[in-house]
Amino acid sequence: EHELAEASRTMTAVIVVDLDGFRDLNDTHGHEIGDGLLRAAADRLAANVRANDVVARLDGDEFVVLLPGLEDEQAAIAVAERVLTELHRPLEVDGITMIVRASAGVALTAGGVGIDHVLREADQALHRAKLDGGGAVRRFDPELFALEEQRRKAEGDIIRALDLGEFEVHYQPIVDLDGEHTVGVEALIRWQHPEKGLVPPGLFLELAEQLGLLPRLGGWVLEEACRQAVNWQRQFPGFEMNVNLSASQLSNPNLVAEVRAVLERTGLEPEHLVLELTESVALVDLEESARILSELKDLGVRIALDDFGTGFSSLSHLSALPVDVVKIDRSFVQAMPESGGASVAEAVLHIARTFNLAPVAEGVEDAAQAEWLRDLACSRAQGYHFAKPMPALGVTELLDK
Ligand code: C2E
Ligand code: CA
Ligand code: CA
Ligand code: CA
Repeated sequence: EHELAEASRTMTAVIVVDLDGFRDLNDTHGHEIGDGLLRAAADRLAANVRANDVVARLDGDEFVVLLPGLEDEQAAIAVAERVLTELHRPLEVDGITMIVRASAGVALTAGGVGIDHVLREADQALHRAKLDGGGAVRRFDPELFALEEQRRKAEGDIIRALDLGEFEVHYQPIVDLDGEHTVGVEALIRWQHPEKGLVPPGLFLELAEQLGLLPRLGGWVLEEACRQAVNWQRQFPGFEMNVNLSASQLSNPNLVAEVRAVLERTGLEPEHLVLELTESVALVDLEESARILSELKDLGVRIALDDFGTGFSSLSHLSALPVDVVKIDRSFVQAMPESGGASVAEAVLHIARTFNLAPVAEGVEDAAQAEWLRDLACSRAQGYHFAKPMPALGVTELLDK
C-alpha cells in the first residue's frame, strides 16, 4: 500500500497483469494457482522491469506494475508485451514446470489523478484483453470507458426503477373506424422517472432488452395489462388487450407457460388478449417462432404482426406464421396519397385480406387519414387523432362515456 502510494506520486504508466490460467507440464494433477505459482510469476515480472519499477500483487492472481517516468504509451505497451512474453515462458514451481497464460491492461496517468483512478482504467483495459480472448495486451480507451460507465449507470438505474416500481403501463385506444368507439387498447410501457419525468420506451427499452431485463419487465406489463383488461370488460364486454412482445421474450422457453399462468391469475379470457410482435422479432428464427406462436394460439390468444410492411419479410414468411392481425405501420398511413393515387397502405390491406388477416392501421393523426382508411375498408385504427396513450384511469373514463 505504502509503496503504491509512494510510486504513484511519480509514476506515469501502469500495467495490470492477470493470470488467465495455467498448464502443468509434468502432468501432475491437483495444482491450483497457489502461492508458489504466484511467487514465481511475481519474480518473473520483477526480473523483467527496471529496478525502480514497482511490482505488487493486487487481489487474487492479479499484479500491478508501476513504471515511474514512463510517459510514452507505445513504450508502456511494449513493456507490457515483453512482460507477457516472459510470463508465458515455462515457470518452475516446487520442481514442477508450469505454463501460465496472462492478460494485461495498460493505462497512463495524467497529472494529478490518484492511483485508484488509474488502476480502474488499467483494469478496464485488462477486461478488454480478456474479452478479446486473453493472452494479450490492451490499452485503456477513454471513449469506450465513458460508454461502459454510462451503460453501467443506466443498467443500475433500470434495475432500481424496477425494484422501486417506477414503471407504468399506459394504454392507447384502438377504435372501430365505423363508429369510432374504443374496442380495445395497446399496452405501452412508460418510466415515471423521479427527475426526468415520463420517459418513453424508445429511451430505455433497447438497453433493457440487451441487459436481459425484458422477460421480467415485459412479464410485468403483461400481468398488469391483463388485470386491467378484466376490469374494462365489465364496462365493455369483448374489450381487447394488445401487449407487445420483445425478441428475448419470444425466445424465452417459459413464455407459453407464463402467458398461461398470467391468464389464469388474472382471469382474462384468452381470446381477448392479442400479443404483438414485429416481423424482425419473428424472423430471428422463423421455424421456432412459428412453433411458439402456434402454442400461444393453442392457448386461445391471438397474434398480431406489428409495424407490418417495414420488415423485409416475404409473403412466404407471412403464410408460415400463424398470425391473426396485421398492424399497418404508421409510415404507410401517414404517406396517404395526395389525390387518390395507389399507396403502400392499400397494397398492405390487400395482402391482409388475401391472407385473411384483420388489419389495424397505426399512427392515424388526422380526420383525412381516418376517412381514407374507412374508404379502403380498413375496420380498425389507432393514432393521436383518436387518442394518445394514457394512464389506465383515462381509459376507464373513456369507456364510461
Ligand atoms: P409500437 O408497438 O409500434 O407502438 C406504437 C407507438 O406509436 C407508441 O410509441 C405510440 O405512442 C406511438 N403512436 C401512437 N399513435 C401515434 C400517432 O398517431 N403518431 C405517432 N407519431 N406516434 C403514435 P411508444 O409508446 O413510444 O412505444 C414505442 C415502441 O416501444 C412501441 O412501438 C413498441 O415497439 C415498444 N414498446 C412499448 N411498450 C412496450 C412493452 O411493454 N413491451 C415491448 N416489448 N415493447 C414495448
Ligand atoms: Ca485470473
Ligand atoms: Ca405494438
Ligand atoms: Ca407498431
